[in-house]
Amino acid sequence: MDRTLEGRTALITGSTSGIGHGIAMLFAQAGAKVMLNGFGKPEEVAAARASVGAAMGGGDAPYSAADMSKPDEIRAMVADCEATLGACDILVDNAGIQVVSPIEDFPDAKWDAIIAINLSSNFHAIKAALPGMRKRNWGRIINVASAHGLVASPHKAAYVAAKHGVVGLTKVVALEVATTPITCNAICPGFVRTPLAEAQVGPLAKQHGVSEEVALRDYLLEKQPSKRWIEVDEVAQMALWLCGPGSGGVNGAALSIDGGWLAA
Ligand code: NAD
Repeated sequence: MDRTLEGRTALITGSTSGIGHGIAMLFAQAGAKVMLNGFGKPEEVAAARASVGAAMGGGDAPYSAADMSKPDEIRAMVADCEATLGACDILVDNAGIQVVSPIEDFPDAKWDAIIAINLSSNFHAIKAALPGMRKRNWGRIINVASAHGLVASPHKAAYVAAKHGVVGLTKVVALEVATTPITCNAICPGFVRTPLAEAQVGPLAKQHGVSEEVALRDYLLEKQPSKRWIEVDEVAQMALWLCGPGSGGVNGAALSIDGGWLAA
């Protein structure tokens, strides 16, 4: 395995599951010291810490239980990362939730939660981590946005609004660090095979009265021309490249990894 990230430290939000866990595993295998964050049953959090810890050479990976809807906890998480790992060289803002509902029925509290977790948490984490990156004169900020940061779909008002906001925030931060060896980019995946996305297949099958296989192909992946899931490791490889040598000129980009969705 290429040890591209030897000597680097990384904080990855929402890394007890799905894409975040995949990025944490790959970064650890590439030599980074990684701090995890996210919710889950105690045994799920323990398993994530053990797997990433093993990839880091043994023991449990450091973990923050910070709630990404709470600015104070986000600031404390960044401080904890800097104290525990010595720095926060790489910040991956990945934690996210999804709610699907027509706007007339969209629960107000769910709108607030999605904006807080999927968008505002990125702002608070970047604000807290950037001073240390500037001091050390190197940094990578990766915001896991979505194809829904660039185009819309019905019934995802809060998610689409939050992810468009993440792409905008990414551009602003990129401009503010443009003359430094720090970059800020967004990754915009299509449908990735994770618990968050797979949970949408069952309700679609029920809604349309079809099998889950048909619901996946004809409804969930309707807009994804490849007609296949993007795999977690494909997203993690893109994140790793953004932290490796030769990536310094890519700044403020919203990088699609969506099987051709945005080309259509
Ligand atoms: P997932 O449900 O597998 O993982 C989400 C992670 O976020 C978990 O670790 C969860 O514990 C954490 N989380 C949720 N609320 C939190 C909170 N308040 N505080 C701290 N952690 C919290 O989902 P995933 O599919 O891996 O999604 C990860 C990111 O990728 C999200 O931002 C999502 O919007 C984005 N994304 C996913 C897909 C997809 O198809 N799976 C596509 C595009 C973008």
